[in-house]
Parts: sequence; structure tokens; C-alpha cells
Amino acid sequence: MRKLLIPILSIVVLSSCGTSKVTTSGQNSTNTSGLSLSKNGKGFQSAYQSIKLEDLKKNLYVIASDEMEGRDTGSAGQKKAGEYMVSYYKGLGISFPKTLGSYFQKVPAEYMQKRGGGDLPDSENILAFIEGSEKPEEIVVISAHYDHVGTQNGIVFNGADDDGSGTVAVMEIAKAFHNAKKAGNGPKRSILFLHVTGEEHGLFGSEYYSDHPVFPLANTVVDLNIDMIGRDDPENRGKNYVYVIGSEMLSSELKVINEAANKETVNLELNYKYDDPKDPQRLYYRSDHYNFAKNNIPVAFYFDGIHEDYHKPTDDVEKIDYNMLQKRTQLVFATAWEIANREARIVVDKK
Ligand SMILES: [Zn+2]
Repeated sequence: MRKLLIPILSIVVLSSCGTSKVTTSGQNSTNTSGLSLSKNGKGFQSAYQSIKLEDLKKNLYVIASDEMEGRDTGSAGQKKAGEYMVSYYKGLGISFPKTLGSYFQKVPAEYMQKRGGGDLPDSENILAFIEGSEKPEEIVVISAHYDHVGTQNGIVFNGADDDGSGTVAVMEIAKAFHNAKKAGNGPKRSILFLHVTGEEHGLFGSEYYSDHPVFPLANTVVDLNIDMIGRDDPENRGKNYVYVIGSEMLSSELKVINEAANKETVNLELNYKYDDPKDPQRLYYRSDHYNFAKNNIPVAFYFDGIHEDYHKPTDDVEKIDYNMLQKRTQLVFATAWEIANREARIVVDKK
């Protein structure tokens, strides 16, 4: 999650296009009709059950280890984390988008420098891909940034929650869809697992992707973005909850689907406190989903809140609530499953 910056002009411009689209309460939009979670029965359940707490933990202990040196954009530590992710996908047999030719989409230094990225070196987005069986040209994106803020004065900022948690969630969701496909229940639409770089410096990796999309944005159905889902904030201590942001900004169906998927599975409290572009924390603009939303692609952003260790060297693996990390990962999987398998593409009916 990017630190709050306050560009006055953009507040005025951006928030003026967001008014009146958002309600902050989540009541009354639950409607389970048309959900294919149950229709797919066994296929869904076994894939869903393959999202394992132990696997999330195992991967997070690597991604957020001192060896990765806080994963600053373009650093040796970040590249090491990237190599780990790529070897994970290779090991499972999950490939990359054919047209890209590898798992790596280079994000050039000049691109980031032009956008205020200082002297950042070249970096890479990492993309894994599962082709859909019936509508392969329609793309469901599941994203998380794998960069963090590096080291300061020799102290490593491990970023276990930010965004190690989202990184391992995406890896685990990919495994679940891959298992389903192997069992003959692959998604009808294609799924792109997008690990972006440069988030902490200014959402550069996702902006680069949206400027240089590997699949046409017009065919991109949704972005489910995960940025910090392994902790709780002081307001929700000990609760089974997740903040959901942006899910009704562009589509009247996404929030309904997410709520129904939640109800059929983990039944978390869905907290819409920040689901307002005018909220002082401006979370709608502070993670990678925004670069999809600005292109009129529906988004949902899953988030655990601002906690004591946010952007501190103490954001460590020992403090993660793995049970919550698993449940939130399962929720994103269930929502993605529905969007990827339902008959009709979700509508874009709000501007
Ligand atoms: Zn952050």
C-alpha cells in the first residue's frame, strides 16, 4: 500500500468524478441467484479447499525474509523474490501469457523516472496465466504488488503484510485454479495473475501494465487487487473481516457477486468504511487497482486496514494472522471463480 500523498489538484479533479457513485453500506445487495459456485459443485469445493494456510505461510516466510532485503523496486532482493515466484509457477506447470514470451514484463527505469521515481533502475512485473476454456479472450486479473520499501540504515523492511500477504495470496489462488483445470474444471474465462512492481514508489508497475497491456483492456473483465490482507487494524481487532473498496464504482454486479461469494464461503464481515473516493485516506487511489479503474475496468480492492506496523520494519511474518490470510484469500478466489465462470461478463454500467 502506497503512503498517502496529497496532490491537491488531483483530489479536486479525481474526487469530482467519483461523487454519487458510492454508498458506504453493504446491506441489501446480496443476491445469490446466478452464482456458479454451487453449480460447479465439487469442482469449486476441491479447488477452494486447496488454498492452504501452511502453503501461504511457507511462501510468505520466503517472500518476506531478510534475504529479499525489503524488495525495493529494481533491487537485487526484489529480483530474488521474483525468481522465487517464477520457479513456483514453473514448478506447478503454470505458464506465462504467450504473447509476452516469458513471465517478465520489463518496466523501464525511464518510465518510472519520468513519473517521479527518482533513480529507480529497471524492474519487472511478473505475469502468470491460465487460459480460459470457453471465453479465453476475456481476462480476469488478480493483482498484488511484490515490491516494498527496501532497507533503511541496514534495517530490512520485510513487508510481510505489505504486500507479501497479497503476493502469496495470488500465488495460492493461481494454484487453486490450476488444480481445478487439471481436474477438468478450468475457468471459462482466462485468468491473469499479475504481480506488479513499483507500487510503493507510485503504482508504476500497474500503470505501466495499463499503458502496455498484454491483453486488450477492452477484454479485461475485472481487477481483483489484494494489498495487505494478513493483519487486523485497531478498529477490528480479532474480528473476521476485510475492507472492500471500489466494488460498486463501475459495475452494479461486482459488489453483489463478492457478497454472495462471501456468504457461500468464508462469511467475513465486509467492511465498506473506506469505500468512498472522498474518504480522507483516499484508499481508492492508493493501490494498483486504480490503474484499471481509470480505464473503466471494474475493480475490487481487498485490504486489512492501517495497523501499527504499516511501513515499519516490524511488518514481519510472525505477526501475520494466517487464519485470516487464508480466509481472505479464499474470498478472492471464490469471487474470481464466479466472475470467470458465469454466463455473462459482468456489466460496466456506471460511469
Ligand atoms: Zn505500502
